[in-house]
Amino acid sequence: MERAGLQRLIDVLIKQGLEVLGPVIRDGTVVLGPVAAVADLPVGMREHQSAGHYDLEDLGDERVFGVATGPASLKPLVFAPRENLVQVELGGEHGFRAEALRPEPRPVAILGVRACDLAALRVQDRIFLHDRYPDPYYEERRRGLFLIAASCTRSAPTCFCTSMGTGPEAREGFDLALTELDEGFLVRAGSEAGEEVLETLGLAEADAETRVAERRAIDACASVMDRKLDAARVHDLLLENLDHGRWDEVAERCLGCGNCTMVCPTCFCHDERDEALLDGSGSIRIREWDSCFDRQHAQIHGINFRPKIRDRYRQWLVHKLATWQDQFGTSGCVGCGRCITWCPPGIDLTEEVRAIQETTA
Ligand code: SF4
Ligand code: SF4
Repeated sequence: MERAGLQRLIDVLIKQGLEVLGPVIRDGTVVLGPVAAVADLPVGMREHQSAGHYDLEDLGDERVFGVATGPASLKPLVFAPRENLVQVELGGEHGFRAEALRPEPRPVAILGVRACDLAALRVQDRIFLHDRYPDPYYEERRRGLFLIAASCTRSAPTCFCTSMGTGPEAREGFDLALTELDEGFLVRAGSEAGEEVLETLGLAEADAETRVAERRAIDACASVMDRKLDAARVHDLLLENLDHGRWDEVAERCLGCGNCTMVCPTCFCHDERDEALLDGSGSIRIREWDSCFDRQHAQIHGINFRPKIRDRYRQWLVHKLATWQDQFGTSGCVGCGRCITWCPPGIDLTEEVRAIQETTA
């Protein structure tokens, strides 16, 4: 598809009644926001990411998907940061009435979803849709998503998707997938809905040269990704080292702020509570994102079972990389690197794992 075709794709999606979201610049970062035109996208921009650091640079070229990841993942679109679950009103035959407050169906197309974020969505689907009690709130939002992936031809230094087997190529879980090349995009469909949109665009079959260029671009991206995590060994490594001195060392640097869990596309800790209505007529049950770094998260019946930051950091990392596998059959980490970039003191989970590994080798 030539570069001008991207606007046609956006127009087709809008015409089908979908709200289009994609990467947009806001407050010096790239987040997901409304897109009506290619000009809304971060054309020509690249980001610089490292531990505790993120900034944008305008290279002035034509690339629309040049920015790898920003702080925003798909998570808030399916698992709302704060939502009303149930309204309770006093009165009626049984003394009260309870009504589930389901989200309105909202058909949304998301442009430029990275392979690691598709993998993170699969992790969240496993938790919210395919566990014993499917979550109807998540389900409603998830059903409305039309996903247009963008395979990565450039990674950030914080990325380690190759270690986690999640990227840089978008292989599954999308409706359409784009790979941005010098002259335009290679487009493929991954679902019936994607096929329909592809047919509307009336694109010519990609020639062999374009396919080779795509393969080279994705392989080049993977080959320069030098941040690594030993995914095969990490489960046993962490569980065998629960009393390692590194947990005390990292606790000296960790602020316990929970930024890492807020930006993580798979973290799903949440809190539920009832808020009484001011007029005394009932209450609303609310669900809000929480974090295992929050001291209150481990507070039960007057006892805190993770009173120190050391305990909370260890809980996060061991769950994410080890016990998540026992619980859900996958790693809780997809290698997006967000927790490294958005950690104020720049704590890097791959370095923490390596530090433990080096002393036990
Ligand atoms: S733990 Fe960090 S690198 Fe892994 S998925 Fe979460 S934010 Fe991304
Ligand atoms: S690891 Fe970093 S982002 Fe996470 S709680 Fe500690 S200081 Fe905050």
